[in-house]
Amino acid sequence: MNKRNSLLFVVACTVCMTVGAQQKEYPQREQMRPGMSEYWTPQPKVVIPGDIHTQTAPSDAIVLFDGKNLDAWESTKGGAAQWTVRDDAFTVNKKAGDIQTKQKFDSYQLHIEWLIPEGIIGSSQARGNSGIFMQGMYEVQVLDCYENETYVNGQTGSIYKQTPPLANAMRKPGEWNVYDIIYSAPIFKEDGTYRVPPTITVIHNGVVLQNHTTILGTTEYIGFPQVTPHGAGSIVLQSHGDPSAPISFRNVWLREL
Ligand code: MG
Repeated sequence: MNKRNSLLFVVACTVCMTVGAQQKEYPQREQMRPGMSEYWTPQPKVVIPGDIHTQTAPSDAIVLFDGKNLDAWESTKGGAAQWTVRDDAFTVNKKAGDIQTKQKFDSYQLHIEWLIPEGIIGSSQARGNSGIFMQGMYEVQVLDCYENETYVNGQTGSIYKQTPPLANAMRKPGEWNVYDIIYSAPIFKEDGTYRVPPTITVIHNGVVLQNHTTILGTTEYIGFPQVTPHGAGSIVLQSHGDPSAPISFRNVWLREL
């Protein structure tokens, strides 16, 4: 090492030692305390829960049927919903066709109760068939699957012709069934395909049938799912053409998410 290189070496070492010394002077991190990973605001809003015995909805719910009338609904063909209201429930009118909520929704929690009439006859899809369509596009099947076999991706709680339910939790005809549905609306790309597909959780009589299931597209009777861009949409209840006795609904409410 010549004299010039030796000098450069000494300078370089001095710089390194200085930097090293500076790093050692960084303040020590404060020791974590429990409160440092907690935050207190904003507090979640207070919701007064409903009472399942008196069929009341949570305090912030949009009540879609309270036992009195179908004012929140209309025919999908236009005009008033012509289904029959009686005894705190409403019953499908097969001649009148499907009905839908007047209001349109994006993501929500939906509570809806439904009854297969006692003594119903028919088999497979021709026994108590109805359905609940999210945003008018995606059907959660309603069917009497109490001791009634059908194709699994068409049974109660299926995403129709897509995803079978994880269980069969049917109550027998004459007893009320309860659906609690959590639905997340899709987000679309500019080209009309899903950026985030719709997802759904379906709980039937307290039993999980769909666990954050990805919806693949529309629930077609004939053909495969189609992806069609849409915005907020109505909840549609199906008036199915099967010849069995019509089913009923009651206590319908929704919380927007
Ligand atoms: Mg159906």
